Amino acid sequence: MKFEEAINNKLFKTISNCADEIGLDCYVIGGFVRDYFLKRESKDIDIVVVGSGIEMAKLVSKELKNTSNVKIFKTYGTAMLKYSNYEIEFVGARKESYSHNSRNPQVSEGTLEDDIKRRDFTINSLAISLNKKNYGKLIDLHNGLEDIKSKVIITPLNPQITFNDDPLRMLRAIRFASNLDFNINKDLLDVISNLNSRINIITKERIVEEINRILLSPKPSYGFSLLEKTGLLKIILPEISALKGIDEIEGQTHKDNFYHTLEVVDNISKETDNLWLRWAALLHDIGKVPTKKFKPKIGWTFHGHEFEGSKMVYRIFKGLKMPLNDKMKYVQKIVLMSSRPIVLAQENVTDSAIRRLIFDAGESVDDLITLCEADITTKNKERFKKYRQNFKIVRNKIIEVEERDNIRNFQPPINGKEIMETFDLKPCKSIGEIKEAIKEAILEGDIKNDYNAAYKLMLEEGKKLGLIANEKR
Ligand code: ATP
Ligand code: MG
Repeated sequence: MKFEEAINNKLFKTISNCADEIGLDCYVIGGFVRDYFLKRESKDIDIVVVGSGIEMAKLVSKELKNTSNVKIFKTYGTAMLKYSNYEIEFVGARKESYSHNSRNPQVSEGTLEDDIKRRDFTINSLAISLNKKNYGKLIDLHNGLEDIKSKVIITPLNPQITFNDDPLRMLRAIRFASNLDFNINKDLLDVISNLNSRINIITKERIVEEINRILLSPKPSYGFSLLEKTGLLKIILPEISALKGIDEIEGQTHKDNFYHTLEVVDNISKETDNLWLRWAALLHDIGKVPTKKFKPKIGWTFHGHEFEGSKMVYRIFKGLKMPLNDKMKYVQKIVLMSSRPIVLAQENVTDSAIRRLIFDAGESVDDLITLCEADITTKNKERFKKYRQNFKIVRNKIIEVEERDNIRNFQPPINGKEIMETFDLKPCKSIGEIKEAIKEAILEGDIKNDYNAAYKLMLEEGKKLGLIANEKR
């Protein structure tokens, strides 16, 4: 919603009427105002009331005939309500004071100026009045509008204090810079570098939220470079930081896997907004650090880095207290398989190799190829073109083979129960062996992926194992 529309719409008019009715000064503040000037959509609206935010929220919700919707958080003195697509948060203007080991301040009532002063960045410190007497008036105490125009992240107070009080702001600064393509000047970066270890008082959940948002930037490498430069990356994602550097032995070097990784993340971000595929790109080479070896005459090798990397994915997610769910498994799978299609793209690819790729990757097969394409970072134009073309061939083959053989959601055409019934078996090893033989024959292309072919093979395999089939047909 554009602000001209917003300021005239029912929601803001209602808030305005309520503010005058209660007799309190009331402002829309922070992200919504910033995004309005940046011409960006914003779904959260923060309202500051000089007085009780909760009372205001209750009245607004009544006026909007929305009473069931208001959520009150007494301890924080805030209230939230939903109106069409918007989440509106009401809070009383406040003053904050911080202690050393918590980012949660002591809060007391304050003026609008106090409330603006506690904001993290000048671009987030703009307020627009909603009272009738000065409806729509911009309050810009810290030059925020200029800073939006010159695309720069600056703190309203001494940055030393801002970042020391709440170290999460260090990540927020980098996240805003990366999301909005804003600058952080060297002095501010130096302050962050000096205070980087303060990030340890922040919960993992908050850290992950910021990492995710950096990853979702149009060009995540910008944010990750800033994290690296300020030493934050080494603390929050040491496995990525460890990718940095080039070794040389006997005149042989390998590529800098940190910058390579950032390039891959940028590449994939042009293709997908899927956060987890972006995570997979970020982590696809982490196994290269523990597996790196120099072999005389051969050079640098990273044998088994994909497997090592997929194990590291689990440890990283666990360490960051991220859910160990399907998303984690998806990232693991893509990391584990990240080199598989590359081999296929180099050779004259066979149908059975494609069937095995589809079988192993399942639903993730297209995403896997997307990662492989993003992984092409050669600066040699000819080679780049050739590799891309090869993956195109692999993609087309996948479509062709999948149409014919239906491997993607592979269900064995004969299940264990039928094998047991056919040969009068109790649960035993032979059942698994027969199932495996059928699956293998299908993937190899020796038999079709259908019931009759599988049934016939089951009988043959049973015979080999000395089993006698019940006469069924
Ligand atoms: P977005 O919603 O896109 O993350 P935002 O600026 O709205 O951006 P919120 O986290 O929603 O960010 O916070 C709303 C406002 O509250 C901010 O604009 C800022 O003024 C203030 N704010 C949020 N977090 C902090 C913080 N850690 N320190 C100081 N001020 C903050
Ligand atoms: Mg917000």
